[in-house]
Amino acid sequence: MTAAPLPDSASGDGWQYCAQGHKHWGVYGAAGLLVRSGDLVLLQHRALWSHHGGTWGVPGGARHHGESAEEAARREATEESVLDVAPLVETARFVDDHGGWSYTTVVVEAAEALPVAIRGGESVEFRWFPAALLGTAEGPTLHPGFAHTWPIVEAL
Ligand SMILES: [Zn+2]
Repeated sequence: MTAAPLPDSASGDGWQYCAQGHKHWGVYGAAGLLVRSGDLVLLQHRALWSHHGGTWGVPGGARHHGESAEEAARREATEESVLDVAPLVETARFVDDHGGWSYTTVVVEAAEALPVAIRGGESVEFRWFPAALLGTAEGPTLHPGFAHTWPIVEAL
């Protein structure tokens, strides 16, 4: 599935400073899709060239102008994997609002933890992990943003 090219003004690709003085990716904020299936969580192994490459996180990225967080999260997941997002049901969401910039984690439930192949060049692999493993020494090395978000989202 290929989306029509966006006019430059609609793309949210770019850096944005938040009220806390951080520099974040996504002029209109960013969003990610956290897919759960029972006790399993689907994570993306990020390509080495990407920001915090080699770590594990959720597929996501910059929101376009006028795009909802849920639309952005589902679009990004579709660009980075072959996951069929249509049947995924949203169960929770967490907005990490920094003032002037926010990251929305959209949590969805998958009926089955089917294998998910990558699409595009931003991922090395998608893999299901037991939720209890995340954040432990035995677990995968998490993207710093996701490492911060995970305990909050897990408690929702
Ligand atoms: Zn910030």
